[in-house]
Amino acid sequence: VTLLTGWGRTAATAAELCEAGDVAAQLRAAGPRGALARGLGRAYGDAAQNAGGRVLDMTGLSGVLDLDPVAGRVTVAAGTSYDALIDAVLPHGWFPAVTPGTAQVTIGGAIAADVHGKNHHRDGSLSRWVESLVLVTPDGERRRATPGDDAFRATAGGMGLTGVITEATLRLARVESAWCAVDTERCADLDDVMARMATGDDAYAYSVAWIDCLARGGRLGRSVLLRGDHAPATLPDPLARVRRPRVPAPPWAPNGLLNRFSIAAFNEAYYRRAPRAERGRLEPLDAYFYPLDAVAGWNRMYGRAGFLQYQLLVPFGAEATLRACLERLSEAGVPSFLAVLKRFGAGAGLLSFPAPGWTLALDIPAGVDGLAPLLDALDAQIAEAGGRVYLAKDSRLRADLLGAMYPELDAWRGMQAALDPSGVMQSDLARRTGLLA
Ligand SMILES: Cc1cc2nc3c(=O)[nH]c(=O)nc-3n(C[C@H](O)[C@H](O)[C@H](O)COP(=O)(O)OP(=O)(O)OC[C@H]3O[C@@H](n4cnc5c(N)ncnc54)[C@H](O)[C@@H]3O)c2cc1C
Repeated sequence: VTLLTGWGRTAATAAELCEAGDVAAQLRAAGPRGALARGLGRAYGDAAQNAGGRVLDMTGLSGVLDLDPVAGRVTVAAGTSYDALIDAVLPHGWFPAVTPGTAQVTIGGAIAADVHGKNHHRDGSLSRWVESLVLVTPDGERRRATPGDDAFRATAGGMGLTGVITEATLRLARVESAWCAVDTERCADLDDVMARMATGDDAYAYSVAWIDCLARGGRLGRSVLLRGDHAPATLPDPLARVRRPRVPAPPWAPNGLLNRFSIAAFNEAYYRRAPRAERGRLEPLDAYFYPLDAVAGWNRMYGRAGFLQYQLLVPFGAEATLRACLERLSEAGVPSFLAVLKRFGAGAGLLSFPAPGWTLALDIPAGVDGLAPLLDALDAQIAEAGGRVYLAKDSRLRADLLGAMYPELDAWRGMQAALDPSGVMQSDLARRTGLLA
């Protein structure tokens, strides 16, 4: 047995971790605690854990199976990372149409969470770019699912509970270079940043604001807004990927290293260092999309207690709820590095997180005094406003709010049950939140 956690390193549980190998045989041999696929373990909470059951490590099933460099279409094994995918397609002038904020994620894990990027307002979530996927269901059947099929709709965003994705065919986005052109603006407060995003985001492919959650009162929501597009080919060898050497995080960090004071100082320095207004700065793709990947194992910086990420969505029209949440977090002095604010466009799958509205994500050290009741209260406020929290980040949502947050939950459950009538697919997340109930 192996102890597994999510990226936040809280709530370890033991499971029988096996190589994916013959997926159908592995699923058939699962015991009463069932089975689950695991990618690179970048879900923050317990989505890729299955206490007392079997967990299939998908990272061995990796590689590009087919690439059409003219049409921009690629078929990959599900354990392929974004990192490897970019290496394969960028030299041909292509890039994943939707990417999360780290390249250390597998394509299978990304589809299971129906991930979004900084371009959701324009390009939607990943499932919109998946032409087909291959799903091995617990009865051993290998199905090819396409958008519109029940199996596809339940699997994209289905958190691994419909079976195991073994390969996927994706449409890619055309790029001329391995660089982004980035505009930066400092925003004085929450109204300022939201107004700029609402009026200006559509002119950019990518948009994200970093909010200083510790700023209060008149400075509540002060932030740095970064918006950009893929840059044209102006430099020599424009499609060459520029990577910084990865530095390791210290192997050990004293508990409490990241506290209200150290984080407030960091946030203040970040805000002051950002240019008031800057246009067209060229940044390599890796620096722009995956800034945290430059420090290997940065999650260990939170010490033994680990950390959690709280990512919420409120629909357009419920901006007052977003403000109220930010006020409560800043008043409580919850120590969080810059929080990420994005605007979402149209939603997709039944359990997909994105829907039209605003999303805010913040990393918080676990074990902060009063954190659990504070976040429980925010959950209730968010659900009441028609919003939700993101299951791929979650480690603490209580079961009673799941249905309110995911109104298509029952439809998803029906499709899930049809794909897995004997209940083989299981996870800690599912048991904790009652997803499968
Ligand atoms: C620094 C950082 C930044 C991030 N930024 C973003 C972001 O911008 N947008 C966003 O949407 N997410 C973001 N995430 C979250 C991340 O993209 C998702 O949690 C993703 O699911 C992780 O993929 P993984 O391969 O690590 O899967 P894991 O964490 O191992 O598993 C996640 C889920 O996928 C399922 N799964 C994995 N492989 C398969 C498979 N082959 N078949 C079926 N199910 C499978 C698992 O059962 C589990 O439910 C970020 C995470 C980190 C650490």
